[in-house]
Amino acid sequence: MIAAVFRIALCTCALLTAGALAQAPPASSVFIDDLTWTELRDDIAAGKTTVIVPIGATEQNGPWMALGKHNVRAKLLSEKIARTLGDALVAPVISYVPEGQVDPPTQHMRFPGTITIPETAFEQTLEYAARSFKRAGFRDIVFLGDHGGYQKSESAVVARLNREWQAQGTRAHAIEEYYRATETAYVEMLKRRGYSREEIGSHAGLADTALTLALAPDLVRTAPLASAAKPTAAQGVHGDPRRATAELGRLGVDIIVAQTVAAIRKATMRR
Ligand SMILES: [Zn+2]
Repeated sequence: MIAAVFRIALCTCALLTAGALAQAPPASSVFIDDLTWTELRDDIAAGKTTVIVPIGATEQNGPWMALGKHNVRAKLLSEKIARTLGDALVAPVISYVPEGQVDPPTQHMRFPGTITIPETAFEQTLEYAARSFKRAGFRDIVFLGDHGGYQKSESAVVARLNREWQAQGTRAHAIEEYYRATETAYVEMLKRRGYSREEIGSHAGLADTALTLALAPDLVRTAPLASAAKPTAAQGVHGDPRRATAELGRLGVDIIVAQTVAAIRKATMRR
């Protein structure tokens, strides 16, 4: 009897502890979406003064990779980068970006699911995201763009803001190394392993698909891909994703994270 009462007491205690834990702030999350405004304020005061703004895109990625590839990847890579930096938080992903003309449709707009916005709307979105984060107290606002087409817009917005903020402590940064790593060091690594430039590809090919397999495998339709015939540009694929693996993608992720972290540290160093 005494033992039973003791067990009940223990259980109650365990339940209370679980309840308390469930209500605790998600101290481990680096995503602003997960924090309350007071938690965010306290994080900034405690030294988390860098905010990473992941920029994705919603676009066709061939018949075997989901439309949200850039958005999901940008978020997960930004999380790894923020955790490695140690003093950074991650903003909500910007997933509506310029993709070309609607009528007549150009580039990826020829495929259902691709979303486009005008370049001016995109640049204003970046600008006002940065202004908002400066207002919140961040000192370094870092844009990481997962898609190639808008890299110039990032640099243009950053240049304009930094001119305006010249006498102030806040800086914006367009870290082009994040995207460039996927075009240079990652491709070189794949070539050294015997994959051809043609197979590695430029969009939804081996390199692109391997990265997604490493970070968000549910976005890739692996079974139909394995039995597919050689894909064509008419399907929205440039390259050949059939031999893509998560292991190759993980090597790519390591390259992107290492090169981006080094570039952010260099860019945010105060003299
Ligand atoms: Zn893209």
